[in-house]
Amino acid sequence: MKAAKVYINGKFYGKAEAAVSVYDHGLLYGDGVFEGIRCYGGRVFRLEEHIRRLYDSARAVAIGITETRKEMEDIVLEAVRINEKPDCYIRLVVTRGTGDLGLNPDNCGKSTVIAIVDDIALYPREIYEKGIAIITAATRRTGPDSLDPGIKSLNYLNNIMARIEAKRAGCMEAVMLNREGFVAECTGDNIFIVRDGQLATPHPSAGILRGITRDTAMVLARGMGIIVSETLMTRYDLYRADECFLTGTGAEIMPVVSVDGRPVGTGMPGQVTKMISHAYRSLVYGEAKTEKV
Ligand code: PMP
Repeated sequence: MKAAKVYINGKFYGKAEAAVSVYDHGLLYGDGVFEGIRCYGGRVFRLEEHIRRLYDSARAVAIGITETRKEMEDIVLEAVRINEKPDCYIRLVVTRGTGDLGLNPDNCGKSTVIAIVDDIALYPREIYEKGIAIITAATRRTGPDSLDPGIKSLNYLNNIMARIEAKRAGCMEAVMLNREGFVAECTGDNIFIVRDGQLATPHPSAGILRGITRDTAMVLARGMGIIVSETLMTRYDLYRADECFLTGTGAEIMPVVSVDGRPVGTGMPGQVTKMISHAYRSLVYGEAKTEKV
């Protein structure tokens, strides 16, 4: 197997040599933005959408990216090509750059651009067949009045604290509420429920990352004639759901079979979840077959 090559500011480095300055504000302050992208069969899934979200995040936190979007797409494609990994996960990171120990963003030079191509840390197949248990975290999702969850920033401590709660409760994920107590999203995934054959997911105004997998799942469901709503959702809605699943680039479509110790529906992944999961896989692998990088 070829050694991994990591892109940093125009050059590729071996994994052990790939490093940024300790004065990089991405490290010192979590001052940066990122994307988690996936490549199936040599075809990067929804690259344009990921790059668009990256630039939206960067604009929101006033990080100037000198590369054009097209150049950024090419960086991702080149990183995939050079690593010879047709099925991979790509972590694209842009930090404000190298500054000094002060917060002053003006002291940072050019933004640092990093693209890491790695294997996908897939959950074992049986987890998708059985589904996962989740809990509600006590840690609330940050609100749009502080750090809008729509910005995919390098500040994930809020989510990591909730993930620690999940782990301590023996779960792989936690659902996070917003400050008003409405369901927002999980620590690294969006959440959906099915009730009476209809699909619902928290409205973006609840304070969520507008997941690209979330969008894809909604389009696929609507294509199957399923009614989909983006709505205000409480824990009560989760408890009385017939089905529940999570969406994310890494997890894809993950069935949830228990919330806070209460079984969801039959306690097994439901039919609608299975249909959407199947359609998602056909889509990503289908697209993989038709076009290659
Ligand atoms: N919410 C959060 C907090 C995330 O970090 C992610 C991405 N891992 C998602 C939702 C899902 O987004 P996407 O489908 O674009 O991967």
